Amino acid sequence: MVNDAIRICLAEDIRGRLKLRDRIYKEFQERYGVVFCFPYCVAEVAWSIVKKHKHWHRKPYAKRLMLKIDAANFSLNYSVLSLPFRKGERVLVPLQYGAYQRSFLMDETLKCGSATMTDSSIVIVFSKWAPTTEPSRKVGYDLNERSIVGSDETKYDLSEVARLHILYGIRRSRFYGKHPHDRRLKKKFANSPREKERVNQALHRASTLIVEKARANKEAIVLERLKGIRYAHQKGNGEGKARRRRIALWPFRQLQSYIEYKARWAGVPVEYVSPAYTSKKCNLCGRVNRKLKLTERSWLCPCGATLDRDLNAAINIERRGKIRCLGEVRPGARGTDEAVKGNETTTPILRAEAPKSSMAHPP
Ligand SMILES: [Zn+2]
Repeated sequence: MVNDAIRICLAEDIRGRLKLRDRIYKEFQERYGVVFCFPYCVAEVAWSIVKKHKHWHRKPYAKRLMLKIDAANFSLNYSVLSLPFRKGERVLVPLQYGAYQRSFLMDETLKCGSATMTDSSIVIVFSKWAPTTEPSRKVGYDLNERSIVGSDETKYDLSEVARLHILYGIRRSRFYGKHPHDRRLKKKFANSPREKERVNQALHRASTLIVEKARANKEAIVLERLKGIRYAHQKGNGEGKARRRRIALWPFRQLQSYIEYKARWAGVPVEYVSPAYTSKKCNLCGRVNRKLKLTERSWLCPCGATLDRDLNAAINIERRGKIRCLGEVRPGARGTDEAVKGNETTTPILRAEAPKSSMAHPP
């Protein structure tokens, strides 16, 4: 049905999910003998494929067998999923799940979203209203290839990710040396999802630790907006092949999105800040060390401070965050300038005009 809808969409140059839905609504109900909710869902899936296909090298076509259905059109009774099919007919699908999935199915406070079915799995989306807690402090995180460094001097190891990329890279290049044109073997050995799965496991472990700590200590998470980094490190920028390859494989966005969704689920605020000069700027005097090389892990600022590259970056990221914390005075707030002047420490000075959030701490 989706491929039929894609054909209609391209042949008649339909632009928009709703226009496509209106076009196929009656026709598909008669042609396939299904109830009304199917054309709705088909239009949504088909339009998402048509929208993306401009970046593809092939014609838009749904390859995998899948079914997506909206929350309004199926019902979930603990372990049985019931969906409409033809008029007066319903399909009952018994679900098999473990303790983790059961915790979601049994939770009455969660709202059930759409369900996506493939030949081997069913994905059901759950949402909840998570009130964001007002944080008592911010922590900036500098994402590196081999580690995540927090501005509170915490460190999370990601060397597993780099190791896996090297390991599977060697394996792949050896494979292509032996079988350059064998598509069948390529699917089995070189294109296997195992590398991605193992990398994702490592990212999940690190992001869970960060969010758990943030929730326990009432922290806000500040991250760098690293958009366009692959574009900046493409061929012809004077960097070696090995480095460009490492940057291209670096799953920073994956990691950030894991941190973000887990934090939102836990009610921890997340903020993105500009990444410009975060590691080159001294966090004490503000001087920018433009000559800092990537291999230098620590450097000496003319102001006398010895700076660790990653920790310095994390502190700079934290400072750029604009999330208001409990008991914190905004630097530009009225009446705070005199108090801060001549006082280089960053300890917040509480005053009567401080924002209302500081009510918990008597001025
Ligand atoms: Zn300095």
